[in-house]
Amino acid sequence: MTSSACLFCRIAQHDVPAAIVLEEPALVAFKDIHPQAPTHLVIIPREHLARVSDASTGHAALLGGLLLAANRLAQQLQLQDGYRLVINCGPQAGQTVDHLHLHLLGGRAMRWPPG
Ligand code: 5GP
Ligand code: ZN
Repeated sequence: MTSSACLFCRIAQHDVPAAIVLEEPALVAFKDIHPQAPTHLVIIPREHLARVSDASTGHAALLGGLLLAANRLAQQLQLQDGYRLVINCGPQAGQTVDHLHLHLLGGRAMRWPPG
C-alpha cells in the first residue's frame, strides 16, 4: 500500500526526484537531501508505514530487510570503520517524514549520546 500524499511513497514511485541508490521489490534507498554525514542514505520500505511503532509481527521481514540492505550498502560504500543506523519514531525523536525510514550515516566519527 502506498500513499499519494506521502513524500517518500512518491520518491519510491519516481513521482518526486531523488538520488536513488538502490531499488528492490520491497525497498528503496536514496541520498538524504540534507546530509548529516559524508554518507547519509535513507532506506524505506515500499509499503507505507507511518512509523516503526506501526509495524507488527507480519512486518518482521520488512524490518529485517531494511537492516540487511543497510549492511549491503555500507559494504559497497566501504564504511568498514563504522556507520550508524537511526530510526526516528515520532515528533519527540525528530521524525519529520511520516513514512518509516532507516538512516544510514557514515564517513565521519559519531558522538554518543545523540542530540
Ligand atoms: P526524519 O527526520 O523524519 O527521521 O528524517 C527525514 C529525512 O528525510 C531528513 O533527514 C530529511 O533531510 C530527508 N528529506 C526530507 N525531504 C526530502 C526530500 O524531498 N528528498 C530527500 N532525498 N530527502 C528528504
Ligand atoms: Zn509513504
